[in-house]
Amino acid sequence: MSEKTLNPFKIAQKQLKEACDALGEEDAVYELLSQPEKVLEVTIPVKMDDGTTKLFTGYRVQHNDASGPTKGGIRFHPGVTKDEVKALATWMTFKCGVVGLPYGGAKGGVIVDPTVLSKRELERLSRGYVRAIAPIIGERRDIPAPDVNTNGQTMAWMVDEYSSLRGVGQTLPASFTGKPVEFGGCLARKEATGYGVMLMMREAAKYKGMNIKDMKIAVQGFGNVGSYAAMYAQAFGAKVVAVSDVSCCLYNENGLDVNDIMKYAAENKLITGYTGECEEVEREKIFGIECDGFAPCALENSITSSTAKDIKAKIITEGANGPTTPEAEEYLLEKGVFIVPDILANSGGVIVSYFEWVQNLHNYYWRFDEVQEKQEVKMVDAFVKVTDAMDEKKVDMRKAAYLVAIKSLAMPMRLRGWF
Ligand code: GLU
Repeated sequence: MSEKTLNPFKIAQKQLKEACDALGEEDAVYELLSQPEKVLEVTIPVKMDDGTTKLFTGYRVQHNDASGPTKGGIRFHPGVTKDEVKALATWMTFKCGVVGLPYGGAKGGVIVDPTVLSKRELERLSRGYVRAIAPIIGERRDIPAPDVNTNGQTMAWMVDEYSSLRGVGQTLPASFTGKPVEFGGCLARKEATGYGVMLMMREAAKYKGMNIKDMKIAVQGFGNVGSYAAMYAQAFGAKVVAVSDVSCCLYNENGLDVNDIMKYAAENKLITGYTGECEEVEREKIFGIECDGFAPCALENSITSSTAKDIKAKIITEGANGPTTPEAEEYLLEKGVFIVPDILANSGGVIVSYFEWVQNLHNYYWRFDEVQEKQEVKMVDAFVKVTDAMDEKKVDMRKAAYLVAIKSLAMPMRLRGWF
């Protein structure tokens, strides 16, 4: 099996096993956390614009609810598989654990290429998916959010559908997060994951005796996570020398104008054809860019042992979930690259989702700067906790992040008498 098609769920289980062993946890902890509590597979019929009906397959996986209701995004992608959703749900449990949110992990996915659907078809698919998973979600039970190829509009349709299905005569905004600000959303949620990725780059730089202001940074992926990661890298004073998406890689060793590229991408969907000051090269070139910091913000398994060989960066912050294969990670760690793992580096999204949920439940809304300040406190605190565990246990940062997360999970499981 090539590294690109490695089963992400097997990787998640391996990471968990290694961390449980390092922590000396009893076997029951690993056993309970190695499988999701619930896996729902659904078939969604959608009336297409041409009058035909198409069937789509979707999943909702709830991994563990020891610490609270489960939480995690919904992705629309042709490459979705049941095992991928199981892995992503597992990572959500540890993500919430490492930053101390009162949530367990979940994830949803639909096998679909959303680029070939019209807006009306996408709306019907989103509503159909909600009807199918409605029996197992809810604001105190399992709260979905956006992920790859879903956004605020998708969440708005889903809240609308879910609220009418529940038939309580009122809108239930806390049942989904990542909503548009005009419809119960939270300021700074859209920016949160990318902002957090760069907060972690800044903290990692400090930890390594560097300063983000002196760094050249490359960002792979220019969706919601990558574009804002690049924007905040620039805002923190770094030089963003390269960005890439599925179409190409834009490169300028003296720094790109990220805001201008964001404007271009908003109008053209892809970054190819951008005529600002830069060179356009093949997307794979992003790995070999001369830089100090690299943020993979696309999909799983993009840093393989072959692409890892090209990487020049000293620090990697994982904006995507599971972007580094175990083989690649071993190689990079050996080379002395500092990797801030996904469950910490991209936790900004779910942290601000939590803030959104809290605001919805109280119907009281915070300012943009208040949200970002609270996010920063949570992420920097977690960074310190994880690096302390790393130094104390002499393990790499991913293992340390799992140690912190498992500790916070094992206690409620023990108290509840699960083992
Ligand atoms: N999809 C995002 C993630 O992978 C956010 C999940 C959420 O906000 O619940 O972390």
